Amino acid sequence: MTLAETARAVRAGERSAREIVDEHLALIADRDGALHAFNHVMTDDARAAADEVDRRVAAGDDPGSLAGVGVALKDNMCTRGVPTTCSSRILEHWHPPYDATILSRLAAAGAVMVGKTNLDEFAMGSSTENSAFGPTCNPHDPTRVPGGSSGGSAAAVAAGFVPAAFGSDTGGSIRQPAALCGVVGVKPTYGRVSRYGLVAFASSLDQIGPFAASVEDAALLFEVVAGHDPLDSTSVPEPAPSVVDGLGDGVEGLRVGLTKEFVEGADADVVARVEEAARALEKAGAIVSEASVPAAVYGLSAYYLIAPAEASSNLARYDGVRYGLRVDGDDITDMYTATRAAGFGAEVKRRIMLGTYALSAGYYDAYYGQAQRVRTLIIRDFEAAYADHDLLLGATSPTTAFEIGAKTENPLTMYLSDVFTIPSNLAGHPAISVPYGTGDDGLPVGVQVLAPALAEPLMFRAAAALERSLS
Ligand code: GLN
Repeated sequence: MTLAETARAVRAGERSAREIVDEHLALIADRDGALHAFNHVMTDDARAAADEVDRRVAAGDDPGSLAGVGVALKDNMCTRGVPTTCSSRILEHWHPPYDATILSRLAAAGAVMVGKTNLDEFAMGSSTENSAFGPTCNPHDPTRVPGGSSGGSAAAVAAGFVPAAFGSDTGGSIRQPAALCGVVGVKPTYGRVSRYGLVAFASSLDQIGPFAASVEDAALLFEVVAGHDPLDSTSVPEPAPSVVDGLGDGVEGLRVGLTKEFVEGADADVVARVEEAARALEKAGAIVSEASVPAAVYGLSAYYLIAPAEASSNLARYDGVRYGLRVDGDDITDMYTATRAAGFGAEVKRRIMLGTYALSAGYYDAYYGQAQRVRTLIIRDFEAAYADHDLLLGATSPTTAFEIGAKTENPLTMYLSDVFTIPSNLAGHPAISVPYGTGDDGLPVGVQVLAPALAEPLMFRAAAALERSLS
């Protein structure tokens, strides 16, 4: 059943939202002990929200386009009165006093919030192994990672716990886990979806987006949450366009660029799936040719200066005074040190140190300044590529899901998981990962469709065509 079909049945009173949410809760109770997709299951709140949807239907009201649809939220999105931990000890017992806009919009459309999903601490990572509460396992093979940092959300959809989930993508954290778990994952244009209530990691890169089992479902979720929010000063002021309407329009005549930099270095089986996707689009009428975004190869280096720099500043607020954990000390400096030493995990500390160094007097221009100039070059190279192409195509991740523990010793090997996704964040552009067959190991492969800023309608249209080519 698609999300639209579920909502239709609930709105028509043919299915009760309560029965649907109870099915989700039963599945989670049965299998999440083994997978650990959720940090917190909102059992009572979810049942109450579902009962309210049913009550409104009975009273002749229309609860909205997501009536009765169960949704999971990454645990870095604020939920009033419900733990929001960012999978960090420092926020372990924090209950936000307000809701993120994403949650208000979903609830206003009749969706039922089922729980908060596991992530790499503060969204820093590509495997969900950096969670202070233990890793999430990949539902396709529990010895493998689900990707990250939104691994819990990807796994929750892949396991069938919920049909919809949301994550945040700063360098690939929606698309890469979507690829590794065999689900659809969308990073919208920067500013397209409100970040009000998303705990900040790197504010010039962070963006919220949906996970779903199909492109149509992801498109519907995007439509519900996209659009201007006065509470987010970086929110795009114009109204978001419909993306569902054009899903069946096909790719006839569209110029698609198979982008060298977004396949180079990927495993051979991943490259093979991307080439098959390109041929499928061609068969559907697209004009496929080679494309290049030369400066994209410097994306990873620029990202690991810009993102830690912003993170070192954003995470300064966790000082034992204003939020979460406090470990007492002899004086205030001791208290800060003890709190941050106990509250942050190793990767978060590494990022804070990298970022503080990159921003320090004397090094600022050589590191942070230089990285910002590289960012401009990447934006220019994308612009040049989009002069000749409507969309770009590449791999989402260079590999399929790797073994738990395989990349935890050397951070650089983990960072390389995001080489193909980071450039879109630096440019602020949208991109979607669509499952496209499997690798030699039988695990899912994701193909990435990239689009210019605000071109989500075109991006979803091509993604839908890609998905249809598999059936
Ligand atoms: N894996 C990247 C990082 O560790 C991206 C994370 C993200 O998108 N939140 O920073």
